[in-house]
Amino acid sequence: MSHSLVTMSYIIATILFILSLSGLSKQETARKGNYYGMLGMAIAIAATALSGYVTSYEVLLGALVIGGAIGARAAIKVEMTQMPELVAIMHSLVGMAAVLVGYANFLDASHPLIGVEKTIHEVEIYIGILIGAVTFSGSVIAFCKLSEKISGKPLLLPGRHWFNLILLIATVVLGGMFLQQSENGSAIVPLAIMTGIALIFGIHMVMAIGGADMPVVVSMLNSYSGWAAAATGFMLSNDLLIVTGALVGSSGAILSYIMCRAMNRNFISVIAGGFGSTAGGEAAVIEGEVQPIDADETAQLLLEAKNIMIIPGYGMAVAQAQHTVNEITKLLKEKGKKVGFGIHPVAGRMPGHMNVLLAEAKVPYDIVYEMDEINEDWAHVDVSIVIGANDIVNPSALDDPNSPIAGMPVLECWKGGTTIVLKRSMASGYAGVGNPLFVLENTRMLFGDANATMQAVLKALKG
Ligand code: NDP
Repeated sequence: MSHSLVTMSYIIATILFILSLSGLSKQETARKGNYYGMLGMAIAIAATALSGYVTSYEVLLGALVIGGAIGARAAIKVEMTQMPELVAIMHSLVGMAAVLVGYANFLDASHPLIGVEKTIHEVEIYIGILIGAVTFSGSVIAFCKLSEKISGKPLLLPGRHWFNLILLIATVVLGGMFLQQSENGSAIVPLAIMTGIALIFGIHMVMAIGGADMPVVVSMLNSYSGWAAAATGFMLSNDLLIVTGALVGSSGAILSYIMCRAMNRNFISVIAGGFGSTAGGEAAVIEGEVQPIDADETAQLLLEAKNIMIIPGYGMAVAQAQHTVNEITKLLKEKGKKVGFGIHPVAGRMPGHMNVLLAEAKVPYDIVYEMDEINEDWAHVDVSIVIGANDIVNPSALDDPNSPIAGMPVLECWKGGTTIVLKRSMASGYAGVGNPLFVLENTRMLFGDANATMQAVLKALKG
């Protein structure tokens, strides 16, 4: 394939990636966005394979088949609830690739460079391995936290900010040594030590973040994986990888900003770790009487209501209740009720988690509202149904300054008529804090698996 044809293909792929990102920003166009992304990636792979840089097609084909098979198997097998973990582990692979490409470049003696070019290439290698190693170890810890293999509680080492600062200074000093020693062949030593430090930094950074701040980490690691890919692009002199990496890196950074704003957090404080957990004092203990309700009584309340708001949370994903919820929505609308869905930006375990579930169940987009759209309007809501959500409807975020989620805006459903909360027990949510909503006077608890209880409510509504 001629050089200009390769460049042309890269430009087309880049345009498709941009179209993909803009498509993914709206539910209505998300499917189209995915198709653009798939087409762009197919063109990118084909153009790279035919660009003349490939020395062994057997190895390339072998890697494509093995990688494709693992990816396809993971995508087919993964449960919707495991999606966030899958995304985290995929990010770790991007980080690992950057580290491996960095070392391969460093050890490759086939293209000797001199002068400024040599220095620039070495800086690319150093930074690429640094970002890659932080992304790798940080994503592995995020994977373990999201899959509950390790506790989600923040690990707050004494003097952790000093520790981070020392690691940062060491990285800069080692960088200088790496560049100086590249002449005498011993540069691998500072490079290897820096890799170790970067791995420790990634682990420490994510271990220190807990409570409800994980969404920021997930989006931040998404951004890091983009920068790691861009760094790989620099090392391999591949323009498309640089552009694609920068697109992922910057869109991930914007997403982190949006998540921070949604949670009323300062980005630097979240990254420094332990935000909210050092506010002093203990979170208030929840005291009061719980008022249980059954499916028939729930159906009765719904039939009496005019305006109903459904608030889905992580438990809806666990119970896979979205299809039953959609059935109930259709039935209630047929009966002349106004039904809406209130979506909190950090509901579930990954950005956009609830939107994905509702789209899967074919809930119409025009009845799905963002938190800001409905928080003004609760006075008009007669009944709200909280389906497996907890932290995102916790009033203590607003009135308990010692709560780990203090300051996070929440869906203020208690300001409406009756709130019905569906969950299996009185257990806390991801942030591990008690929820005073459950004992409020206008709250009713409908205990059980969300899908089973929703089906019972559907039956009662039909009956
Ligand atoms: P929560 O984790 O606060 O609460 C989920 C609730 O669902 C639990 O209290 C649980 O109670 C209930 N539940 C679980 N399984 C079922 C089931 N089968 N049937 C009925 N209920 C069930 O979820 P929210 O969505 O309210 O809040 C999201 C939390 O996750 C926030 O703290 C957020 O910061 C965090 N997070 C979000 C990420 C994102 O990007 N969106 C990423 C990482 C973390 P019980 O056990 O009693 O049934």
